[in-house]
Amino acid sequence: MENSIEIPKEYLETVKNIKTLKKVLWINSHKKNFSEISDALEIKEEEIKDAEERLKRFAPYLIKAFPETKSTNGIIESPLIEIPKMKSRAEEDIKEKIYGKLYIKCDNQLPIAGSIKARGGIYEVLKRAEDLALKNGLIKKDDDYSKFYSDEFKNFFSDYTIQVGSTGNLGLSIGIMSAQLGFKVKVHMSADAKQWKKELLRSKGVNVVEYSSDYSKAVEEGRKLSNEDPKSMFIDDENSKDLFLGYAVGAFRLREQLKKMNIPVDRDHPLFVYLPCGVGGGPGGIAYGLKLIYKDNAHLFFAEPTHSPAMLLGLITGLHNQISVKDFGLDNKTEADGLAVGRPSGLVGKIMDPILDGEFTVEDNQLYRFLAALAEEEKIYLEPSALAGFPGPALISKEYGEEYLKNSTHICWATGGSLVPDNIMKGYYEKGKLLNNRRK
Ligand SMILES: *Cc1c(COP(=O)(O)O)cnc(C)c1O
Repeated sequence: MENSIEIPKEYLETVKNIKTLKKVLWINSHKKNFSEISDALEIKEEEIKDAEERLKRFAPYLIKAFPETKSTNGIIESPLIEIPKMKSRAEEDIKEKIYGKLYIKCDNQLPIAGSIKARGGIYEVLKRAEDLALKNGLIKKDDDYSKFYSDEFKNFFSDYTIQVGSTGNLGLSIGIMSAQLGFKVKVHMSADAKQWKKELLRSKGVNVVEYSSDYSKAVEEGRKLSNEDPKSMFIDDENSKDLFLGYAVGAFRLREQLKKMNIPVDRDHPLFVYLPCGVGGGPGGIAYGLKLIYKDNAHLFFAEPTHSPAMLLGLITGLHNQISVKDFGLDNKTEADGLAVGRPSGLVGKIMDPILDGEFTVEDNQLYRFLAALAEEEKIYLEPSALAGFPGPALISKEYGEEYLKNSTHICWATGGSLVPDNIMKGYYEKGKLLNNRRK
């Protein structure tokens, strides 16, 4: 396969480095100015607004079903925090200065699922539930949706099954949400999925099917089994527009946060956002929304493990979901379970091609080093995947220079962590601390 893949000449060196597991920074030469692409963008702001409205309709239900959402009135959202001490640590680690201010978007604290999947996964389950309820005359759009929290609705949904393939967190978000609504749920977990994630799901009555193969296979099997059952719905992380829309809502929520915090985004104050990327839906949706809002003043980067740079290879070759990291001799083995995806979403790759500024790859050891640093400096505890964006601000500062970046805002998107059991988190921290000490 590999020999037949054509690599653009300008990226030959990058691909060579990817194949030998070197860290790379890739700047996307396909990126266009917003004015050149805006007419061709197929997903319109109205659709994202529609998704946001749907989440608002469900807010009264979420307050009842998940009381931890009461403090935010049933809206699933996370804080944005400036982390100046972590900025110094990131500079030290990468050995480059960071120009501009550094913030963290704490999706690790998102209620219900403890990860970025609380945006897309939960949204899609709610959308399916609403569609079914509307179609069967159980509800009207202007009703009080706390009605979903009832035996009547649970009985109704118990006739249906929701299935999903996952490396862990998507299964958690979809499993928890679907089970709460009353659906039968089957989660097809890839070999990367952590044991505690499987156990947590089983404790909620979710049927967890384990695979010894990777994520793509778990999705394929789940999709096939679901298609055989007319009362089963498959949530397709590789192809779902609804997931994408759920994630994109996050961009509009971030705009409100930035406004409230008086953080400007304009020509003189560019915004740089660093998003850990697995199959692509989460970072893709958020990046897309930010591009609609901030146009050329938003610079969007994805981060992937050196062992699983699926989206990056898809973008470089233009082959998207037709290639896998295995075609390049990579093993797709990483401690960053949320990013252990060998074949990217074709839907997302094609959308991102003219939008994304670039990508970089990270080593697992770097994830642990940043994990320990963030815990020490800011008392924020993330799972390894969620730290992938943290090398970004220093790498990009070197690439773009002080003149353009001096008033910039960098946001590292922290994509998960609050559900990690304490003993496992302690192990992560100790490992990172050891790695940091070794470099002193
Ligand atoms: C799923 C996940 C991501 C990436 O999202 P994709 O939609 O798979 O690209 C990043 N971080 C964590 C912790 C995740 O669980």
